[in-house]
Amino acid sequence: MSPHLASLRYTNAYAALGEPFSTPVAPTPFTAPPRVLHFNPAAAALLDLDPAVAADPQLPTVFSGAQALPGMAPRAALYAGHQFGVYVPQLGDGRALLLGEVRNEAGERWEIQLKGSGPTPYSRGGDGRAVLRSSIREYLCSEAMHALGIPTTRALCLIGADEPVVRERVETGAMVTRLAPTHVRFGSFEVFYYREQHDHTRTLADFVLAHHYPEIEPGDPARYQRLFETVVGRTARLIAQWQAVGFAHGVMNTDNMSILGLTLDYGPFGFMEVYDPGYICNHSDHHGRYAFERQPQIALFNLSCLAQAMLPLMEFDAAKAALDAFDPQYQAHYGALMARKLGFDSEHGADPAVTALRETLLQLMRASRADYTRVFRALAGVACEGPVPPALRDQFIDREALDRWVADWRARLRAAARNDAARGVAMRAANPRYVLRNYLAQRAIEQAERGDYREIDNLMRVLARPYDEQPEAAHYDAPAPDWAQNLQVSCSS
Ligand code: AMP
Ligand code: MG
Repeated sequence: MSPHLASLRYTNAYAALGEPFSTPVAPTPFTAPPRVLHFNPAAAALLDLDPAVAADPQLPTVFSGAQALPGMAPRAALYAGHQFGVYVPQLGDGRALLLGEVRNEAGERWEIQLKGSGPTPYSRGGDGRAVLRSSIREYLCSEAMHALGIPTTRALCLIGADEPVVRERVETGAMVTRLAPTHVRFGSFEVFYYREQHDHTRTLADFVLAHHYPEIEPGDPARYQRLFETVVGRTARLIAQWQAVGFAHGVMNTDNMSILGLTLDYGPFGFMEVYDPGYICNHSDHHGRYAFERQPQIALFNLSCLAQAMLPLMEFDAAKAALDAFDPQYQAHYGALMARKLGFDSEHGADPAVTALRETLLQLMRASRADYTRVFRALAGVACEGPVPPALRDQFIDREALDRWVADWRARLRAAARNDAARGVAMRAANPRYVLRNYLAQRAIEQAERGDYREIDNLMRVLARPYDEQPEAAHYDAPAPDWAQNLQVSCSS
């Protein structure tokens, strides 16, 4: 563990691919002095950095692009993507830069990426900046997802400055430093397919295999097919985790789909509060393409775009078979996760009785506009005998229907012979008490816009332990108050 940023040693494997995979670009620092709004020791540890780095005077200058450390090689990556179903031939890092890649003592590779660092050749007329509002959302949510056990990019620090950035109104700029083993996306492959640069597709696939999929034998003649199958499997698992926790990504374009199956690019995401399968978190998504219940099928569409881009490397039949395996894998993961949320073992994921209990409960929640997170958490505290506690019952309008459901659920639990105490512990580990509700993020944003960053820290602490009771933070589990009922989050960021 080092307390100094200057001790980082860079491997820069992706940068070494050179053009056209990425292009050297110097960050554009803020004109106003940068300051550290938040620093995340948990992410620093991934780079073998000591928490004392928070006080390193280089922290704000390096992670606002004002100073490069020896060994850093800032580059913007090229990619394309299907946005809302339409192919856009050139996207790329329009406001992000890869600063460098570090290999930690455990042998893991971590790319360090700066988001909001100014224009690049891929900015397409944009200013290359990110506003404080969206930077806080990405910063908080990536760490909240990690704590929930959901694969995601990580966030190292949040840097702000009194730098005006024009959106619908004048806002202030900020930069998030994020970490991922690689930021390669489905769109990184698509760009070469549509340009008919299949050698580059192969180079990229070889890079991803060599550095990120060591479990696939380099000499395996079917290695590209294996890569695709593995990406399908990881994506199926990721989406099942999103659905189980009630997370809507909001912009599932192929350029926002990670080749590692990570949650990537936090924009207008939302944690569903009132249970509604048609929940649309992105105010700009007028047709609900990315509505909550559509996420699995959109993931499959995105995977089929990746399959097409990788067709020069694998047989059509193999690609087809891998795509056909998406839905069964998704259903198996989702079933297992929901079985655990209901107090059963994951092996009961495909049990028709458990599936029926799940579907009926969701229907009751929908009819009552019940809070998704609170209902499941309350269920963890319901014993196999006795009256149904108000914490659960009061969330439903049709209470007799709920009572009938509880009776069926209890009967099935008795058949599975689980004792209340052990089941309660297991259910609390499967049903978070705390998720990043929109209004919680909004409150932290509004305070930060007034120069008070304490709520960011409060949320980081609470959301780092989403499954723990945390009595001192009990109010963070509350549903949206009236002022936040119609909060709108759009693509503007
Ligand atoms: P996103 O919807 O944030 O995933 O962004 C889609 C594409 O637009 C990516 O290529 C981004 O780099 C680019 N982009 C978004 N905002 C800006 C901006 N303010 N300046 C330049 N490029 C941007
Ligand atoms: Mg993006």
